Amino acid sequence: LPKGDLDWKKAPCRFCGVGCGVMVGVENGKAVAVKGDPNSAVNKGLCCVKGYHSVMAFYGKDRLTKPLVKKNGRYVETSMEEALDLVASKMQETIKDHGKDSVSIYGSGQWTIPDGYAASKLFKGCIGTNNVEANARLCMASAVTGFMTSFGIDEPMGCYEDMDHADVFILWGNNMAEMHPVLFSRLLDQRLKRGVKIIDFATRTTRTSMAADKSILFLPQTDLAVANAICYEIINNGWVNKSFVAKHCNFSKGLTDMGYGLEDKYSFTDKPEKISFEEYKTFLEDYTPEKVEKISGVSAKDIKYMASFYGDPNKKVMSLWCMGMNQHTRGTWINNLVYNIHLLTGKISQPGNSPFSLTGQPSACGTVREVGTLTHKLPHGVVANAEHRAFAAKIWDVPAENIDPKPTYHTVEMFRALDRGDIKFMWIQVTNPMVTMPKLKRYRDATKKEGRFIVVSDIYPTPTTDIADVILPSAMWVEREGMYGNSERRTQHFEKMIDPPGEAMSDTWQLVEVAKRMGFEKQFYYNEETHIKEIYNEYRRHHDNDKHRMAPLEVLKEESGAMWPYVDGKSTQWRFNAKYDPACSNGEDYHFYGKPDGKAVIWQRPYEPAAEEPDAEYPYWLNTGRVVEHWHTGSMTRRIPVLHRAMPHAYVELNPGDAKRMQVKTGDKMKLTTRRGEIILPASVNERGVPAPMQVFVPFFDENMLINDITLDSFCPISKEPDYKKCAVKVEKA
Ligand code: SF4
Repeated sequence: LPKGDLDWKKAPCRFCGVGCGVMVGVENGKAVAVKGDPNSAVNKGLCCVKGYHSVMAFYGKDRLTKPLVKKNGRYVETSMEEALDLVASKMQETIKDHGKDSVSIYGSGQWTIPDGYAASKLFKGCIGTNNVEANARLCMASAVTGFMTSFGIDEPMGCYEDMDHADVFILWGNNMAEMHPVLFSRLLDQRLKRGVKIIDFATRTTRTSMAADKSILFLPQTDLAVANAICYEIINNGWVNKSFVAKHCNFSKGLTDMGYGLEDKYSFTDKPEKISFEEYKTFLEDYTPEKVEKISGVSAKDIKYMASFYGDPNKKVMSLWCMGMNQHTRGTWINNLVYNIHLLTGKISQPGNSPFSLTGQPSACGTVREVGTLTHKLPHGVVANAEHRAFAAKIWDVPAENIDPKPTYHTVEMFRALDRGDIKFMWIQVTNPMVTMPKLKRYRDATKKEGRFIVVSDIYPTPTTDIADVILPSAMWVEREGMYGNSERRTQHFEKMIDPPGEAMSDTWQLVEVAKRMGFEKQFYYNEETHIKEIYNEYRRHHDNDKHRMAPLEVLKEESGAMWPYVDGKSTQWRFNAKYDPACSNGEDYHFYGKPDGKAVIWQRPYEPAAEEPDAEYPYWLNTGRVVEHWHTGSMTRRIPVLHRAMPHAYVELNPGDAKRMQVKTGDKMKLTTRRGEIILPASVNERGVPAPMQVFVPFFDENMLINDITLDSFCPISKEPDYKKCAVKVEKA
């Protein structure tokens, strides 16, 4: 820590969905230190390695400080005024020549709430196109559709405090030790204090497995079968909570379009229909532990072992998951299946009994899911619903007809539309799709096609700014005011603490300036000094109901955030339980009020193989993911010297037996080939993690080794979230 008195102010950490409260120390106009906020209910004073070094991300040598416009293949500096004029006029010209659906915006779960709100209001309300998407489609969409299909309302019913009450934690494909390190330390702390059990159920041995009480490996995609086998065990051992199920659950089968209005496009003909408990029980006969052992590689004994915790009435169980379940061609189904387990046993919406979907990004929940920056969404409801459109239009001060009732493109389709030329203008903010899109080469080539105009707002040069026609320098984190919403429905505010460099400007204000230039001064009436307050207060009107009420700004400024629904001056910790949630109104102990009949749904969901499985030509499974040192694509954390030195480049993690057979040691160059292309990477054997035999793992943070050039862009047909965890690959020495 620097010597002397620093001015310490609170903020949520910018580097993941845990949303730790931090204190930022400012000296002479520079952010020079970070410490965990001891008053934060999230992290109680702790931080991880990214959090502790986060302020260093402001000061990389190549920070973007001036707008750049591409002229004759070269970037030329210009003023912010001119750059914003150009963005606005180019957007107007494109709409005039090609229609409103030829322009689009692609944002992020790192958008603050006001950023996402301004984007949604400009594009959906004022321009009248639903071409609004965010990178959370690539990480959280299956969690959303899981919640919507099972409960009719999004986001976890519980909260982090569940960790202080649960006896057993079952991690479903979730490397929490690296991806949610501060929460994982909370589990370890509970093990020291109370002797809780941690079970890691995964396809790869990681730091989480090493710290767990038991590590159980399954073959990729077979989590669907194992979850069904656990339900089979619960029913056949008489562990069903009969009164809870009778009062609060329905049984259903079939697909569902979730009200996205995309049925005609995606041919969802298999409509949901109610079934009986007996029919569901018969369906599960195909998933006895012994049968599932053959599909999954998990012994019947281990399946029964996991089921026994869920079935034990004296044990409180928390299930935790993140990308392992969401990035899955059946992401919605596997989310439903874990809810089935908790619903059958009635272990839900009580302190310590909690199915909990964790988020990756700091505001995937707060911005993308709650503001609704996805093609089908509005802040309250969906574009397909006339009442929801009228409600949003009134607050936005636009005619209701302005809001198009039809969703347009989800993320993968949006980039395909850019490739085809249906979209000609794309504004990308706070995200790096030229590293993160699956089957990346196709989409990179698309951006370079004649007649496409790309605007990128960011803080450093990236492979995405490389494809931009205009680069707008953005203000980062506490260089501006904003709010994030974390995994536990907690909204947190941060104030502006330091000035952004050069002409850098917040993404919110970039959007406001462009909107005004396009003639929407009436709707974008905000004042530069007070616009965050004005936008947040306007946004709160969309959620002015007991099921989703947001805390007033004054509360967010004072406290370490608040959890919605915020009712009578209090956060709601456990939704759907009448003891804790004032929105429960059916006179019963539980009320799943997201569904019209107040009942949650137990879904019949079969096992289905992955979109692309290993074969003789491509015999390995390829899995991709993150590392603790880097925030997503590393555009910020790779500028933090200590983090860059700790993890300087990507690698391919091999199983030691496979490495021995191929006579490969750590550092040897390996060639990975899929049907999409090839990539060369150094081998890693017995270092960070250990994949199962005939599986490899590659982190995606390294822009110099773009693993997404060779991944597959198959997605869950309900959530449209791609499966980055499974495709077939050939692995050989380079
Ligand atoms: Fe920041 Fe996440 Fe680390 Fe907490 S766990 S300090 S939110 S990166």
